[in-house]
Amino acid sequence: MSGAAGQQAVEGARPAQPEAPSDSALGGAFAYRGGQLHAEQVPLARIAEQVGTPCHVYAGGAMQATYRALAAALEGIGPPTTICYAVKANPHLAVIRGFAELGAGADVVSEGELRRALAAGVPPGRIVFAGVGKTEAEMAFALETGILQLNAESIDELKLLDAVAGRLGRSAPVALRVNPDVDARTHAKISTGKVGNKFGIDIDQVPATLELLRGLPNLRLDGLAVHIGSQLVHAEPYEAAFGRLAELAREVIGQGWALRHLDLGGGMGIPYGPAAEGGAARLPLADYVAAARRTVGRLGLPLVFEPGRYLVGNAGLLLARVIYVKQGRSKRFVILDAAMNDLIRPTLYDAWHEIVPLAEPAPDARYEPADVVGPVCESGDIFAPARPLPPLAPGDVIAILSTGAYGATMSSTYNSRLPAPEVMVRGSDSAVIKQRPDHAALMALDAVPPWLAETGGAD
Ligand SMILES: *Cc1c(COP(=O)(O)O)cnc(C)c1O
Repeated sequence: MSGAAGQQAVEGARPAQPEAPSDSALGGAFAYRGGQLHAEQVPLARIAEQVGTPCHVYAGGAMQATYRALAAALEGIGPPTTICYAVKANPHLAVIRGFAELGAGADVVSEGELRRALAAGVPPGRIVFAGVGKTEAEMAFALETGILQLNAESIDELKLLDAVAGRLGRSAPVALRVNPDVDARTHAKISTGKVGNKFGIDIDQVPATLELLRGLPNLRLDGLAVHIGSQLVHAEPYEAAFGRLAELAREVIGQGWALRHLDLGGGMGIPYGPAAEGGAARLPLADYVAAARRTVGRLGLPLVFEPGRYLVGNAGLLLARVIYVKQGRSKRFVILDAAMNDLIRPTLYDAWHEIVPLAEPAPDARYEPADVVGPVCESGDIFAPARPLPPLAPGDVIAILSTGAYGATMSSTYNSRLPAPEVMVRGSDSAVIKQRPDHAALMALDAVPPWLAETGGAD
């Protein structure tokens, strides 16, 4: 792989269009125009100048175009479909709002996410609550809100939900999240549908679970759900999981349960980088649709989908400035002002992210390997080892691409670094959608107990 391939990915990007996204790592959102990298119509150098770095930038128009394209493709399955955007991928209110405007529901995994979805205008009747560890308080809040369904993942959870619903005098709409025991062929830390993962009820325990359900009067079984993992780029694991789900649904319906819908989860994978790094593929959507049509599609039940990454991943990037370039004896280090606290995917998942300068490199620029690192005091604070990059100097701004999903949301303030601001563009408009807080605001959450002497303050 050479950095030039990365450049082509940028040049190959097209403006957002209401059609299936291309195989570019950029999802059609970012491109060089006149030698400068743009987000939709906005020069990123201007954002870096006005907002400072590090800074997350989202192409809001591209997110909506991707949503429309996905919704259109899923219609090809046959039954009515609902897309519940998986909020955890990027929980910013403006991101959720952009999808809600187009009719999306939301898939949430905590009370905080549920509150965000509601605040962004998602109707309660289109909200699904997933997750292995819902608390009693979260269940009560979800039931009082009147959401579409809670996806239950264990017998203990069903019993507690029945008790909470009984106390509130409500009937709780539930789906059983089934672990279909398929290998999603993705990174171990984001694989969720194989026996031995903490997720879902093992498929062979479903009959016993249904027996138990008959004795839980405050639960109404509305559906069955699967979610086998994240960043899946092959349709085969989906076909296997959906096939098992369809078979199970037939049995369950045969036993007299009136299922209202099936929830097929999310996990649709996106391209992150060049083929040589195993990152060029997007889940072939046509194959995914065909797999769903051949299996669950035959049942005719309405279908719920929970895509997160697919809708937002390629539509975000992280701007960072080069602080130093250190030429060691055997290695070049490019030290950025962004760090693992701003984007932890490389550290956590060995994730590959394309890195490009904002100023388009000359056609004959020499690409040489560099370790691209942040300033945090951890050896794991590295964005890319031995990455071929054009010449870079202190002060240059670069973009780390495809950070729209599991980027800002997984950030922390480790090393007492301030959270990076977030900017959204649409066409030629741009807006700061999250300010960078100051150090006083961060410290204001700390309290020093009364038995320690006052410092006299340093404000
Ligand atoms: C995380 C998650 C999703 C979204 O996963 P993506 O890979 O971002 O599409 C969907 N459903 C459930 C239950 C999840 O936990």
